[in-house]
Amino acid sequence: MAGAAKQDCLFCKIVGGQIPATVVRETETTVAFRDINPQAPTHVLVIPKVHHPDAAALAVAEPAILADVVREAGEVAAEEKLDSYRIVFNTGSGAGQTVFHAHAHVLGGRGMQWPPG
Ligand code: ADP
Repeated sequence: MAGAAKQDCLFCKIVGGQIPATVVRETETTVAFRDINPQAPTHVLVIPKVHHPDAAALAVAEPAILADVVREAGEVAAEEKLDSYRIVFNTGSGAGQTVFHAHAHVLGGRGMQWPPG
């Protein structure tokens, strides 16, 4: 069921404390933790505590929580003192999504190229 913790979901296990993570911020609805394979000097993932497979599904089901995720991405950037940063929602395996629990990548601390690869 969308919204309920999913038993085989890696990020639900991080929310539940069954898998460790370097948590940098936590709110009632979100957790932000450092990516295990950083692609920039700052690479933090912001996830909703509720399970939805991607950001668009979260937007349809619980739009206020998607807003919480984006606001927290901004708070992470402020805490990391990033003037510029990128928020990425990879959606679908063709776009590189490997964990099907909605998450925002917050990337910063280096120059960014456009278009992304
Ligand atoms: P991609 O692997 O292509 O970046 P996603 O957009 O689905 O795909 O991002 C999943 C992210 O989760 C990856 O950046 C990966 O490094 C990160 N990750 C996987 N396992 C963990 C973990 N245990 N703790 C922190 N980050 C993790």
